[in-house]
Amino acid sequence: MPAQTPARPAAPAWTIPGFLEVRDGRLHVSGADATELLRQYGSPLYVFSEPRLRSNIERLKRAADGVSRPVKFCYASKANSNMAVLAAVRDAGIDIEVNSGGELFKALRAGFRPEQIIFNGTSKSDDELDDAVRAGIYSINVDSTYEIELVEAAARRAGKRANITLRLVPEIGTRSHIGLQTALLTSKFGITSSEVPDAFRRALAHPELIHVGGIHIHIGSQTPDVEPFAEAFRAMWEHLVALHRETGHTLEHINLGGGIPVNYLRDRSQADQMPEAERDMLGASLEPAEVLAAALAVARESARAADAEHLLDRVTILLEPGRSVVSDAGLVLTTVRNIKRRPETGDVWLLTDAGFNLLLSMTTYKWYYHLVSAARADAPHDTSYKVAGPLCDSGDVYFDIEGGSRLPDYRQLPADVRPGETLALLNSGAYSLAQAFPYNGRPLPAAVMVREGGKVDLVRRRDTYEDLLAGDIW
Ligand SMILES: *Cc1c(COP(=O)(O)O)cnc(C)c1O
Repeated sequence: MPAQTPARPAAPAWTIPGFLEVRDGRLHVSGADATELLRQYGSPLYVFSEPRLRSNIERLKRAADGVSRPVKFCYASKANSNMAVLAAVRDAGIDIEVNSGGELFKALRAGFRPEQIIFNGTSKSDDELDDAVRAGIYSINVDSTYEIELVEAAARRAGKRANITLRLVPEIGTRSHIGLQTALLTSKFGITSSEVPDAFRRALAHPELIHVGGIHIHIGSQTPDVEPFAEAFRAMWEHLVALHRETGHTLEHINLGGGIPVNYLRDRSQADQMPEAERDMLGASLEPAEVLAAALAVARESARAADAEHLLDRVTILLEPGRSVVSDAGLVLTTVRNIKRRPETGDVWLLTDAGFNLLLSMTTYKWYYHLVSAARADAPHDTSYKVAGPLCDSGDVYFDIEGGSRLPDYRQLPADVRPGETLALLNSGAYSLAQAFPYNGRPLPAAVMVREGGKVDLVRRRDTYEDLLAGDIW
């Protein structure tokens, strides 16, 4: 009998081979030692991985290869519009979605061509519309019938035809947002299905000013099931057919928005502390291939029934993935700065240097980012701590002060965490740096991008105290 070799301890569940690994007990990101990065670039620190970002985009492209229609992916730049991230997305070969004149400016500056850009937003200014029309972008997604007039005026000013898409409000429930009435009463986005025919008629009134290219629904972020995507696609497809019947005009694209989920609970050690629905939502694993296949299947069926397959055969499908491109390609490194033990409760509190000014969604959406020790990444994470950030704000905690939500009351870390230890908040590449602000006079951190082979580039310099004064006049 072969000698028994001692079993290697299994890698922690949050690891991702080749990207997020434990080497010599320490967290490594695409080959770079996280603790070393923090020492070199200062704390706190945003870390992004270009290889992981590329592999997320490759997954999307593979999904597109599996369906019969062309798919155009427009990265939702609001998720993370750091210029090095935009450049990496561009290099990986997909297009971009912007939500403001500022994001449009950044996309153009990052080298995206106008035909790669789509522009969403509820409240575009004339200046923003002028920029978009003059640049000649792929689509301005109009959010109301009224906005069609604004685009026409911009087209007149520019002496150039504008491409538009009608954005609809989702009239379907997702598991993160159930109930049509609620959705219609609470969602500020888009027009309703009943308005679509008139809106299209209005949009087609001045073909010399406006070209109507498509229709759009973004059902919401982190959608765990395929059905809402399929339902949204069916609704848009039916509008496309009705429009063709009524006017002869054929839309070229159907835009299914973003919302492909990321699994924030690869490590499920704290999952049982969340309500079941939250757990299902945060731990969703939905392949983009399933989304595309389901959407096309319902459209194909409906097209056959309506004898409209020739229309479907002209459609390009658009997706606007944000989270699914960058979320798990980034993390926030933070240092424990202070510790206290409350005699009454026995709780040990760890006070870090990463507050909600760096990860706003932890407080606004009570979003769960799995927390690990970067320095002792394979030590058992079996000790409970209250964890909080540095801000002078009682809401700046890594749990929910009101209770009852998806955030657990305690975080699990190795025994005997001391000040100076480096911690990592995983899956935080999306909606983190993009939402950061210098509350409490805290200069924004640096960001680094780890490249193929573990090479590290600084992609955002740490703000200085002088930067805190940059806009003030006194
Ligand atoms: C936020 C947003 C997205 C991106 O959503 P993700 O969940 O990050 O994929 C896409 N489209 C629109 C219109 C959005 O507002």
